[in-house]
Amino acid sequence: MKPQLSQAIILHHSAYGEADRIVTFLTPDHGRIKGFARAARKSRKRFGAALEPFAEVQLHWLARGSGDLVSLRDADLVKLRSGLRRDLETLTLAGYGCELTEVLFDDSGIGVEVFQLLQAFLDHLDIHGYSVEARLLLEVRMLSLAGYMPHLQHCADCFGPLPNGPVSFSAAADGSLCPGCDDGRGILKVDRLTLGTFGRILQTPLTRFVDFKLSPRSRQEGRALLGDALRCHLHRPLKSLEFLNRFSPEETA
Ligand SMILES: [Zn+2]
Repeated sequence: MKPQLSQAIILHHSAYGEADRIVTFLTPDHGRIKGFARAARKSRKRFGAALEPFAEVQLHWLARGSGDLVSLRDADLVKLRSGLRRDLETLTLAGYGCELTEVLFDDSGIGVEVFQLLQAFLDHLDIHGYSVEARLLLEVRMLSLAGYMPHLQHCADCFGPLPNGPVSFSAAADGSLCPGCDDGRGILKVDRLTLGTFGRILQTPLTRFVDFKLSPRSRQEGRALLGDALRCHLHRPLKSLEFLNRFSPEETA
């Protein structure tokens, strides 16, 4: 087996037996991988802080013949991102980002862009801390990379234009609905301006998180429409999501 060296973000780890750890990490070129770190809990010398969640590392690993666990040989810490632990909001949002990559993409469906997006998101939170904008930028881009983005700026049924003002929206109906196509399926009303705002966000580089300031209405309606779209595609409830929604309950859809 050829030893591999990958840039990696640690998504999470769990204890195994007396002394070992199982670590899930995300790489740009091999997607998501689960690895076995022998003696990682017993000896801090070998891996140190390099296997902590959200850390970025250079990971030396070896594919094993059978099973889906690789063997972790060594890890050089590149960035710990200790700023993520500044407060519970920031820490929870960072955990939510990692969990989203796990539920929206299967192991083979993760490309380099998902890695770059999560990397930029964690770097942003590490420096700037929690914001609703960072959360919404992550959600809309993750949905888009997963191929789950609903139609925003035209009718999902007839592809015709949408009226100004409130527009009917339903992720189950694949997005916005014009008055002619909305036969009661629209479960949300989202202003045309908000739909335009999120449409334009998708045109920006996916690693850019600074200098986005959304109006209270765009934040609230964005939360509702992205929440609806995510609910359609998440195959299990997210542990971090319920916790995260406690930090801004007034915007909960
Ligand atoms: Zn229509």
